[in-house]
Amino acid sequence: MPDARLGLVQNAPATAPQGAASNGIRHRDGWDGSAGSAPESADAPERLALLSGLAGVATWELTTPGPGLVWHSRFESLVRNPPAGARYRVPPGPEGRPVALEDLGDVLLAPIVETVRAGVVWDNYELIQEMEEPGGVVHRILVRATLLPEAKGFFGIMADVSDPGSVPWVTADVGERLELLVEHSPDGIIVHQEGIIVYANPAALHFAGLNVLTEALGKPMTLFISPTDIGPIVARLNQLNEPGDAVKGAEVTMVHPDGVKFVVEIVSVRTTWGGKPAYQVILRDVSERKRAEEEAQARAAIERRYAAAVAALEEGVIVIARDGAVTASNESAVRILGSRLDGGRGDAIFTGGGPAQKNDTSPFPPADLPLAVALSRHEGTTDVVIGVRDENGKEQWLSVSSRPIDDAEDSAAGAVVCSVSDITERKLLLDRLAWEARNDPLTSLANRSGFLAAVEGALKVSDSERDGLVMFFFDLDRFKLVNDSLGHAVGDEVLRAVAQRLRTAMPRAVSLSRLHGDEFAALEVGVPDTDAALHRAEELRSILSRPVQLSTGRTLTVTPSIGLVRLADVGREASEVLQDADMAMLQAKTRGRGRVAIFDAGLREEVGSRLELEHDLRAAVENGELRLEYQPLASLANGRVLGLEALVRWEHPRRGLLLPGRFVGLAEESELIIALGQWVLEAGCAQMARWRAMYPEANDSFLAVNVSPRQFDGSQLLPAVRGALEKSGLPPGALMLEITESGIVSDDVRLHGLLNELREFGIRLAIDDFGTGYSSLSYLKRLPVSYLKIDRSFVMGLGTDTEDERIVAAITDLGHGLGLRVIAEGVENRQQRHVARQLGCDLYQGYLLAEPRRPRDIPPFWRPRHQPTGSAADRN
Ligand code: C2E
Ligand code: CA
Ligand code: CA
Repeated sequence: MPDARLGLVQNAPATAPQGAASNGIRHRDGWDGSAGSAPESADAPERLALLSGLAGVATWELTTPGPGLVWHSRFESLVRNPPAGARYRVPPGPEGRPVALEDLGDVLLAPIVETVRAGVVWDNYELIQEMEEPGGVVHRILVRATLLPEAKGFFGIMADVSDPGSVPWVTADVGERLELLVEHSPDGIIVHQEGIIVYANPAALHFAGLNVLTEALGKPMTLFISPTDIGPIVARLNQLNEPGDAVKGAEVTMVHPDGVKFVVEIVSVRTTWGGKPAYQVILRDVSERKRAEEEAQARAAIERRYAAAVAALEEGVIVIARDGAVTASNESAVRILGSRLDGGRGDAIFTGGGPAQKNDTSPFPPADLPLAVALSRHEGTTDVVIGVRDENGKEQWLSVSSRPIDDAEDSAAGAVVCSVSDITERKLLLDRLAWEARNDPLTSLANRSGFLAAVEGALKVSDSERDGLVMFFFDLDRFKLVNDSLGHAVGDEVLRAVAQRLRTAMPRAVSLSRLHGDEFAALEVGVPDTDAALHRAEELRSILSRPVQLSTGRTLTVTPSIGLVRLADVGREASEVLQDADMAMLQAKTRGRGRVAIFDAGLREEVGSRLELEHDLRAAVENGELRLEYQPLASLANGRVLGLEALVRWEHPRRGLLLPGRFVGLAEESELIIALGQWVLEAGCAQMARWRAMYPEANDSFLAVNVSPRQFDGSQLLPAVRGALEKSGLPPGALMLEITESGIVSDDVRLHGLLNELREFGIRLAIDDFGTGYSSLSYLKRLPVSYLKIDRSFVMGLGTDTEDERIVAAITDLGHGLGLRVIAEGVENRQQRHVARQLGCDLYQGYLLAEPRRPRDIPPFWRPRHQPTGSAADRN
């Protein structure tokens, strides 16, 4: 815009008058009027004043050098009906200076006077000044001046052009309109010549923190642009040769006087100003734009990082449109959902369209699936577990969270965002843990807490239904022996076999459980009364007692002791019912293994006293409460006493004499049996040694000592035996150890080795209670024993029960076949002794010969009192 009129309109600049000395304001008589356009007559000033009034302008003259201002008609003449003492503001607004009416003209003219005083002289000036009336109305005052001939000064007018129509000669010509544009431009516009400002519009002034143009005129451009930015700008300006050339926008940072930094884009255009080369500089505040750009960049960076983070998530993230289609997904989503992601819509994205399961494996109602919920109810869901089939038909568990997105601008873009994790492994593990919390992994039966929960549930039934409920408590006899001697693998096999038998035998069971170790329990319904319950227990006992076929091909027999309780008889919590059943089981054990016992209220007391007894037994050995009785064994051929069996007695301080049946089982359940066994060995050997010393007849007799299977467990037995023999001085051949048949487990290598050692040491070995256990006969053959004691239960029937007789005959033949001596125990009458002798038994023992006796009652046996009654041949 080379010709744009920029507020100050100028033509060719005049040469500033030099050497002028007057400083005063010249008055109307001081004006010589030599210029052709000025009035010449003496009353010219008056005419001029009249003319001014007619034209609606104020006229003035400024003489140079040393400006002297003369008003021909003062500005206040333009103001109609001014209120007295009114103050006007120049410029308008609160910052404006309050000016009295009579000074208004001088103030409005001040910029021109200043400029002229600064030595800048132009042919013409034109300036629009604003001022504010006391009422707030802003007036635009036009100031025009023209240089007098010979540059003697200026002549000018001033007019109120607020309403252009009121001043006929002031028309809004093109120049003025442009001027308005420039004056009101939000861009700063500056014109400078060689760096000296010759024009700046209000916006430019504002950038520099200035108020009026005069503050900028004649000042260097550094007013606007910091010195550091100037260099590059000048270099760029040098590329502009022709008027109209422009440099591309450069950005500089300006600091507003109040310290606020703002970024300005600068465009320089080469132009001319008053005929001289000039640069028009346009300043545009781009701070806002810059800020917006920077914000957009920052936002884009965040979005990029966010996208990268989402892509790297372990979790699948999916955005699903309102119509159910996938609009975005990350890699993990693809990995987890595979092709379901492309083909699926809505919840089929997760389920593949197939049926879905809930966490508890019940069917998942389609309306409750996370997307359905999010879309229809506009609700989010959190960690919803869904069981589905994956692409390959494999069970897959997903955890899905969903959130509806409220996107006001684009509701179709993303309706729901879902996150999905594959929790299959975790879920199976948790299920496994939950299952294991209630079940026994070995047998897959319920464990104790699972069983109790089931019983608790069953107890909630009505009283009549409860009457049919029976709880059975099974404990396998001597299972520890199986475990210790054959190893845990065999033990586990037996436990699994027992579990399987229970399953088959008790299809009506409410719950079957392995409570712990070798303890099982069952709750059965529909057992009408006590007799039926006992009958059922016997049935189960016989089923469980059948030999177990091991995977090695061998068979093994374990017997259960069974306690039972009818829930009709009790009526409390599950755990208490279980305790009662446990007690009944212990009762069954006490009566002898492989028995059945039903709970009755008296049992609780008995069990209590049992515990007390166990406590007392610990002190019994040390307190010398134990003693031995002896029962002789005699030859069936000639009646000679060949040995004595030591039988332990407990003189309980409060309960009196206790037989082994009351406490040996107790001792076997704890380590007490070791101390007890050792005491019996030592006491028995010592007694036998005394007898041998006193009675020569006793030198042929052996001492039989009962050894509990538990005593074979550790490594203490052999040293205990040696110790007892050494202390007493008894030869090994004087000692016989009796092991009950049921305490022997086939193929127990350790037991076999130990028995061999004892045998080599010279100890006699006998198998006690023969016929009650299940030892394989072929195994027996290999055991280094020399005596078989036929169990009393078979001997009892001799002479009355042909079945028993056949068994005794078979055992005797077998024993003899293996080179063993056979002993009939529990012979109570002559008939039994007679048959035993006839069937070929070698020795006998029993009340017929003698009951167990105190030591002082034994010596008479050393003198034979019994005459031989059968064969003369003494096989002993
Ligand atoms: P056992 O080894 O079979 O001992 C024989 C048991 O039968 C003894 O009972 C004895 O009194 C009894 N008895 C003997 N003759 C007859 C008879 O003609 N008719 C009847 N009805 N019974 C007869 P006791 O003394 O009560 O011993 C019971 C069991 O206690 C013994 O059975 C034995 O297995 C165990 N026992 C006894 N003393 C010891 C011991 O010191 N250590 C170990 N580990 N067990 C012992
Ligand atoms: Ca015995
Ligand atoms: Ca016996």
